[in-house]
Amino acid sequence: MALKTEDIKRVKGEGFLLNRGTECFNGRIITENGTLTARQMICAGQAAEKFGNGTVAFTTRMTLELPGIPYEKIPELQAFLAQEGMVTGGTGAKVRPIIVCKGSTCVFGLYDTQGLAKELHQLYYEGYHGVSLPHKFKIGVGGCPNNCVKPDLNDIGVVGQRVLTYDPEMCRTCKVCQVEKSCPVGAATLPEGEKLVISEENCNRCGRCVESCPFGALIGAGTLYKVYLGGRWGKKVRIGTPLSRLFTRAEVIALVEKAILLFKREGLPGERFGQTVERLGLPQTEALLYSDELLKQKAELLAQ
Ligand code: SF4
Ligand code: SF4
Ligand code: SF4
Repeated sequence: MALKTEDIKRVKGEGFLLNRGTECFNGRIITENGTLTARQMICAGQAAEKFGNGTVAFTTRMTLELPGIPYEKIPELQAFLAQEGMVTGGTGAKVRPIIVCKGSTCVFGLYDTQGLAKELHQLYYEGYHGVSLPHKFKIGVGGCPNNCVKPDLNDIGVVGQRVLTYDPEMCRTCKVCQVEKSCPVGAATLPEGEKLVISEENCNRCGRCVESCPFGALIGAGTLYKVYLGGRWGKKVRIGTPLSRLFTRAEVIALVEKAILLFKREGLPGERFGQTVERLGLPQTEALLYSDELLKQKAELLAQ
């Protein structure tokens, strides 16, 4: 059977990528937030044996691919995966599967990364699935400034931040400062005979020092989120531009939607979001993201 170009294109839109030199496909399974249940793993393995070549490949964006799927088996495979609530997809000029670190359980994690990623997945991967954008749009969710999943190389990236409250009045100028000792980047220093100093510039808000002061001079005051815009990695590299302030979880969720709408409204065909941000400039980009203008235009923008 000779496959037609339009058939190859159509199934690509459903997450099936042609295996080079064959008429079979890699079926891409979405994991929502980088995790699968044990039953879903078993189902994916069984699907690989039943429909593919018996292997499962893990992609860099936390999806699974089953190679060797014959074209005519695609609907049957999709129905098989649906038994465990799994779908294929993750291609095209639209919101792509979210990548997320294991911050929900990691000792350095500052919040429930997988919970946030799942919410973003439902709202913007599923919710915006039918929305065409100027190019692909990637979202990265990281639990702390260790940046294991490189959120700043995504079109929008989120990094957990621990806010500190430091009261110099409480500092007793100890011989050995536990805060200074616990800071991995040298942002907390105790100049001789003086009180602890925290460098705003060098502190990455990892929160490792929280509760290390036995006299309570330094305490954690909750989690906020740093957001990077317009990162990319590939043929061209751009480190995302950090927005000028930190955000709450609810603000992050709204911000991601506004960023997608901004890309839809302002992006030129074929350009990545970083180029759109550079063209508009950060002040105008931030002004749009901090207002409700884009949300008010949502219905109109999505109708285009
Ligand atoms: S980025 Fe931080 S929270 Fe996430 S896996 Fe790495 S160390 Fe853990
Ligand atoms: S911050 Fe705490 S541990 Fe460090 S010198 Fe001051 S009182 Fe001592
Ligand atoms: S939050 Fe992290 S970087 Fe900042 S002072 Fe504490 S340990 Fe150092």
